[in-house]
Amino acid sequence: MFENLNERLERSFKILKGEGKITEINVAETLKDVRRALLDADVNYKVAKTFTDTVKQKALGMNVLTAIKPGELMVKVVHDELAALMGGKATEMKLESTPGHPAVILMAGLNGAGKTTMSGKLALMLKSKQHRKPLLAACDTFRPAAMEQLRVLAEQVAVPCYIEEGATNPVAVAKAAINHARLNGNDIVIIDTAGRQSIDEELMVQIRDIKDAVNPDETLLVIDAMIGQEAVTTAKTFNDRLEIDGVILTKLDGDTRGGAALSVRAVVDKPIKFIGTGEKMEAFDVFHPERMADRILG
Ligand code: GDP
Repeated sequence: MFENLNERLERSFKILKGEGKITEINVAETLKDVRRALLDADVNYKVAKTFTDTVKQKALGMNVLTAIKPGELMVKVVHDELAALMGGKATEMKLESTPGHPAVILMAGLNGAGKTTMSGKLALMLKSKQHRKPLLAACDTFRPAAMEQLRVLAEQVAVPCYIEEGATNPVAVAKAAINHARLNGNDIVIIDTAGRQSIDEELMVQIRDIKDAVNPDETLLVIDAMIGQEAVTTAKTFNDRLEIDGVILTKLDGDTRGGAALSVRAVVDKPIKFIGTGEKMEAFDVFHPERMADRILG
């Protein structure tokens, strides 16, 4: 991931690293290159512009023109601003449960984004790392195959799964799953919901109904990082309708250019909480903006 961006940024800093004495023009040229590299990596236009404007202001404020190693100072400013752009610090989920009152995570997203896979990954992480007792709830009543997929994943990670064969009302299934968790000592319910090929009104109404009925502690939007600029539109639409608490970016193991990771936070002001880095249940990580910035700058 980010190979292109990484290479392009490295090239942008070459001038500053080579010059004995640098001028404001050198800085401006470098930042123009940085902006182009960000745009080519599918970063949203406004985000890229604000980013380079901020970097310029900070770099000049730190007297980059008279610095002994202007190139290195510039890389540091860009690094810190990249991390800030992605949210600064890792953001945890707030999952408070009391006996008989499980915490609820609502998973939302378009078809193929990786919702069902991520539901399994989250369940595994909560069970093995946080010693919680999650229950997976199959509420994609739109596609029976999705329910079966969740059942198989649940078996793989050895977490119970609530399914109602032939059910057609996801709100009823979600409520029944929470009740089932209450009675069986599960302290977290992860609700996998239906997606669509693209955003449509029916989907938005359905997922809003589920949210209103179960009042989740965390509403997480799963986005495929490979969809580039579309990721921002998807995040914005879901957030406007559903008030999400965070984003999960999947498929960061592919050759994604990185735009989604860099733009989502700035556009919807919601943190990226987790990333998916493969199809296996273990291919999952907390999103650390600092580490991602390290990676982008190589
Ligand atoms: P859903 O329709 O949103 O529930 O998406 P699925 O969970 O069914 O995932 C769609 C496809 O993407 C499946 O083939 C998954 O194995 C794959 N997938 C999910 N997450 C990742 C990931 O982080 N990396 C890769 N390479 N594939 C993933």
